[in-house]
Amino acid sequence: MLEDNLRTVRREIAAALERAGRAGEEVRLVAVTKTVGPGEITAAAALGLRDFGENRLQEAVPKLRLFPGLRWHFIGHLQSNKAKDVLAGFTLIHSLDRLSLVRALQRRAEQLDREARCLLQLNISGEESKFGLSEAELPDFLDVLNDYPRIRVEGLMTMAPWGEDSAGARPIFRRLRELQQQHRRPGLELAELSMGMTGDYIVAVEEGATIVRIGSALFGPRPAA
Ligand SMILES: *Cc1c(COP(=O)(O)O)cnc(C)c1O
Repeated sequence: MLEDNLRTVRREIAAALERAGRAGEEVRLVAVTKTVGPGEITAAAALGLRDFGENRLQEAVPKLRLFPGLRWHFIGHLQSNKAKDVLAGFTLIHSLDRLSLVRALQRRAEQLDREARCLLQLNISGEESKFGLSEAELPDFLDVLNDYPRIRVEGLMTMAPWGEDSAGARPIFRRLRELQQQHRRPGLELAELSMGMTGDYIVAVEEGATIVRIGSALFGPRPAA
């Protein structure tokens, strides 16, 4: 079943790239494994998947230990006091959303003598329940990054509003791409756009996603929280 699901997702991504005039470009598929066990992660890796996403550190830590050869993406809300653990285990943090976290990551990155690769999470829909910088906060935030040389911001991330269908997600994704075009500059290319989940990844790819984060379309529905 996983194999069929993966084939479907890959085919949909390829078709969306084609429709968007992006044929030949690559979209990185991050397999989101929250609530998914080691057996299925092994199966996914055997099918060639290399990028995996988790949104809670506590759940992720044992999986990172079991699968150190995979690339792990942190996609959930990150508390500043967890910055060190996340930096140690994860390739890319998708959820940088505030200055206090920048400071914590900079300090921990210095201690570990490495860079903190991040995406800036934007709350474009303005929903109060969502984390992320507002559009209005973005310019100052990007300027301040100059003072934090260990923080490498590689792009932007967003989530569409809850409960919207994929048509409702489209303007949100389009706006993220506009913000990328508006704010990119030499040394801060913001090349990555992490947008699109099971319900809206096709639209996200049509609107320029370079990374999609997909759980249930691969592994089946999650048990209710
Ligand atoms: C759970 C989650 C996903 C994947 O959700 P699906 O709808 O199962 O594909 C993507 N991004 C984030 C931030 C998540 O928490």
